[in-house]
Amino acid sequence: METIFDLCIIGGGPAGVAAGVYAARKKIKAALITENFRGQSAVSGEIQNWIGDVSVTGDELHKRFEQHLKFYSKDIDIKEKETVTSITRNDAVFNVKTTKGEYKSKTVLVATGSIRRKLPVKGAEEFEGKGITYCATCDAPMFGDLDVVVIGGGNSAFESASQLLAYAKTVTIIQRSDFRAEPIMMQKILSNPKVKGITNIDLLQIKGDKFVSAIIYKDKKTAEVIELPTNGIFVEIGSNPSVDFIEHGLVKLDDREQIIVDPKTQKTETTGIWAAGDCTDGLYRQNNIAVGDAVKAVEDIYRYLKN
Ligand SMILES: Cc1cc2nc3c(=O)[nH]c(=O)nc-3n(C[C@H](O)[C@H](O)[C@H](O)COP(=O)(O)OP(=O)(O)OC[C@H]3O[C@@H](n4cnc5c(N)ncnc54)[C@H](O)[C@@H]3O)c2cc1C
Repeated sequence: METIFDLCIIGGGPAGVAAGVYAARKKIKAALITENFRGQSAVSGEIQNWIGDVSVTGDELHKRFEQHLKFYSKDIDIKEKETVTSITRNDAVFNVKTTKGEYKSKTVLVATGSIRRKLPVKGAEEFEGKGITYCATCDAPMFGDLDVVVIGGGNSAFESASQLLAYAKTVTIIQRSDFRAEPIMMQKILSNPKVKGITNIDLLQIKGDKFVSAIIYKDKKTAEVIELPTNGIFVEIGSNPSVDFIEHGLVKLDDREQIIVDPKTQKTETTGIWAAGDCTDGLYRQNNIAVGDAVKAVEDIYRYLKN
């Protein structure tokens, strides 16, 4: 007879793994499907805000996540190296299709995270992790008394700049068009003497040796090419939630394609589907938050299944 899981968790980052551990310990008949156990911060040279660890590499932390989940491998069906390609519903049962098979489940937890938009310029790939970072909350303390650049002009860029001000000597915010963050926040940050805002530029190149040393950009108005020395670059040009496999209309997404959830329970507006972590419309993106979201979701799913 075909297995019908009680819960199908999609994703093997911090949210997916936390959900898997909680589901296994609650003896929920669950499957966890993931491409890999490499959440976004697996590439991080040093993580300093994972609670319980003063410092840990991203690689080490994600190996521990995987080990923790696999300790319960008798209690949860782990399907790795599989990509979910679609979810459809047939009455009260969801059909989760992957690159290797098809699974049926009464509930689904989407924990597929997001992919940060990368800088499309020369040097960006070479210096990632060598001065280029995508997370001010994570890495700002490493740039104490240094000159840094924030690339981007929305709220996230200004929030990053605000966090950097506690450490950096100067913060330059550069943006290809005009700034478009909340006016009050922009005014407050730009009035700080340590901050400079530069708009309407084309970023041309990131330069450095072992680490980043400068950016080169063109002023769109004057066509002048400028080299700006810097010790660090914080990229805040948005991210794309990994939700391509969700068919139109199955789950409600916001205008940034993020899954809309009830923050108390992580429930979506579709009965039987929950979401956790960076693929949701939650405001903040952190490992600790993704894990907390997932725990809330599994508690709620457990209640739903029991009722
Ligand atoms: C470079 C970088 C450094 C960071 N550093 C820190 C830090 O120091 N501290 C901190 O708290 N936060 C940090 N963050 C943020 C943190 O990594 C994210 O908030 C966190 O990873 C979100 O977890 P998640 O489980 O929601 O998603 P993700 O980590 O994105 O994991 C998603 C998982 O889903 C899988 N997946 C995706 N699509 C599919 C599919 N269709 N089928 C099957 N599997 C799929 C992926 O393979 C992956 O395993 C950093 C982010 C970046 C980009």
